[in-house]
Amino acid sequence: MGIARIKLISIKIVTRAWRLPASRFHVYYAVVLVIFFNCIATNAWSKAGGGFDIIALGTEGGLRSGNLSAYLIGPHGQSLSVACDAGNLIDGIEAAVDAGNFSATIRPKDYPLSLTGYILREHIKGYLITHGHLDHIAGLIIASPDDSAKPIYALDPVLQTISQSYFNWQSWPNFAASGLSPQLGKYTYVSLAGSSQQELLNTPMLVTALPLNHNGIVSTAFIIEYKQDIVVCLGDTGADSIQKSDNLKNVWQFIKSKVREGRLKAIIIESSFTNEKPNDSLFGHLTPKLVNQELLALAAIVGEPKLLKDLPVIISHIKPSLAQGQRVQDIMLQQLELGNTLDVDFIIPKQGERWHF
Ligand SMILES: [Zn+2]
Ligand SMILES: [Zn+2]
Repeated sequence: MGIARIKLISIKIVTRAWRLPASRFHVYYAVVLVIFFNCIATNAWSKAGGGFDIIALGTEGGLRSGNLSAYLIGPHGQSLSVACDAGNLIDGIEAAVDAGNFSATIRPKDYPLSLTGYILREHIKGYLITHGHLDHIAGLIIASPDDSAKPIYALDPVLQTISQSYFNWQSWPNFAASGLSPQLGKYTYVSLAGSSQQELLNTPMLVTALPLNHNGIVSTAFIIEYKQDIVVCLGDTGADSIQKSDNLKNVWQFIKSKVREGRLKAIIIESSFTNEKPNDSLFGHLTPKLVNQELLALAAIVGEPKLLKDLPVIISHIKPSLAQGQRVQDIMLQQLELGNTLDVDFIIPKQGERWHF
C-alpha cells in the first residue's frame, strides 16, 4: 500500500469519525490506530514502492556451468527486471522458483509456458552485459532459441565481442538484429555510450554504463536508477592500484552524491579469489582485501564513512575451488569481515536468493 493511499484512507476515516456518535467514534479511532501500527510493523513508511528487488541467478565465477554470474534487478514489487550479466539463466530461475522467490501468480492462467518460461520470456526485459567473457553470457546464448525479443545493452567493445565471437553462425546462430547475415532478429544491440543515462526499455528504470579495467579488457559498471534510488552492478574488474587505472575511482565519483543522499541501495562487486592469491596472478580480479580497499576509496570520496554503514554489498563471481577443506565462500566472508572497518553488510549470495533493498 502506497503512503499517499494510506494517508488518504486515514483522512477519510477521521473526517467521517467526527460526524459520528461517541460509541462509533471509538470504533473508527481504533481502525485508524490499527492501520497506523500496521504501517510501522511492515515498514511501509520508509519502503513503500521504493528500492529494488534483486535475485541471484548465478553467483560463481567458474567451474560450474549452471551457476555463472547473473543478477536480476527490478523495481520493488513489480514483476519485471533486467539481468546484470547472463552467465546462467534457466538454472537460476528454477532455483529461485524452487525457493519460492517468484510467485506463481505472476504468470497469467492462460499463459502456455511454465513459470520458468514466463520469467525468461516476459519478466526479464533486457540484458546488461558487463563484458564478453563466456562466463557472463553463456546462459543468454544457450537459452536464446526459447527467449523472446529484447535488447542487449552494453558498451561498444562488448557488443562487438558478442556479435563477432558468439552470434556469428560459427559459435551459434546469429539471434541478433545486426551482424552476420542472415540475422534472426531476436536481440537488438543497444550501445551504451559511457556516462550518458539511457532508458531500460519496458521498465521504469534508467542505466548509466561506466568502463572498468579487467586486465586490459573492457568491463562495465552499470548504475541502475529507479525513482531516486540506485544499485551498482560491477562486472569483473581489477583494483585501480593494480590496473594502474582510475576506472573504479570514476565510478565512486559518479555515485558520490547519491551515497550522500542515502540513495545507494546496494553494490554488487566481485571477489574472485581469496587474499592468498598474489597480485600478479589476479588477471584483473579482486580479493577481499582489495574489495575493502576500494570501498574505503569510495568512503574517502564520499567524505562520510558512516554513510556506508550497513550498505548491502553482494559479493559476486567467487571462483569455486576443487581443493579439499573449507568452503571458499566461508574463507571469503572471514577475510572480508577482517577488513570491514566501514561496517558494510557483506552478502555471500546463494543461487536463487532474493533481496529487497
Ligand atoms: Zn571476465
Ligand atoms: Zn568472469
